[in-house]
Amino acid sequence: MTDAAALPGRPRGGILSGPATLRAVNVLAPNASAMTLDGTNTWVVSEPDSRSAVVIDPGPLDEGHLRAVVDAAAKAGKRVALTLLTHGHPDHAEGAARFAELTGTKVRALDPALRLGDEGLGAGDVVEVGGLELRVVPTPGHTADSLCFHLPADRAVLTGDTVLGRGTSVVAHPDGRLGDYLDSLRRLRSLTVDDGVHTVLPGHGPVLEDAQGAVEFYLAHRAHRLAQVETAVEDGYRTPGEVVGHVYADVDRSLWPAAELSVRAQLEYLEEHGLI
Ligand SMILES: [Zn+2]
Repeated sequence: MTDAAALPGRPRGGILSGPATLRAVNVLAPNASAMTLDGTNTWVVSEPDSRSAVVIDPGPLDEGHLRAVVDAAAKAGKRVALTLLTHGHPDHAEGAARFAELTGTKVRALDPALRLGDEGLGAGDVVEVGGLELRVVPTPGHTADSLCFHLPADRAVLTGDTVLGRGTSVVAHPDGRLGDYLDSLRRLRSLTVDDGVHTVLPGHGPVLEDAQGAVEFYLAHRAHRLAQVETAVEDGYRTPGEVVGHVYADVDRSLWPAAELSVRAQLEYLEEHGLI
């Protein structure tokens, strides 16, 4: 889910479908839209010499796509052994139950309502499948249940909708909260600075090879938008709708409902911090 009302993005490379790192392959879902960019990235992740793969975000309930994900693993000589979710939005999670049926896998997610099987997923968990190691990084903000997965062997992080390959993400108020989101971006920044993560494998859009630059851009964008919203309120724009019409005036109106969620999150943050 994107907030395409971003500051101009710098040109960035990266693939949309196919291998992105030694261990991560993308299968792009056919659900492109203003809100999902080129479509949802479904990630098939495995050790090169392992016959077991982990799938992150099966994507929408699209039988052809779900079967394409199974096929992509099979073509590499692998069987899907586990399904993980970055969060519960339907463009990531709607196909999970059917995908679990096709592959006979469990589904692990932070939100118990999304799980299939008895295993959850949360802070500090390390998922190990066939020698592959994925470290769970809690990153609430886009939604309360958002997680990222650190893939240390490839110096990469799978970010779901917390960081996208293009544009910026929505803070989906009231479930998503701006204070949480800023903390999560700082947590990701420390992964890039302290743990040597270079590559962002996002839930939508192309792969980013400058993970630290991307996170810094997101933090700067959020600060810029917050200042704009604060100024708009000082100038007399009161309701979320009025603030959107002013701050997002140059943005396609089809994105205003999403922008309004972010504005509501920003107004809540400014009120909580005594700034308006
Ligand atoms: Zn989402």
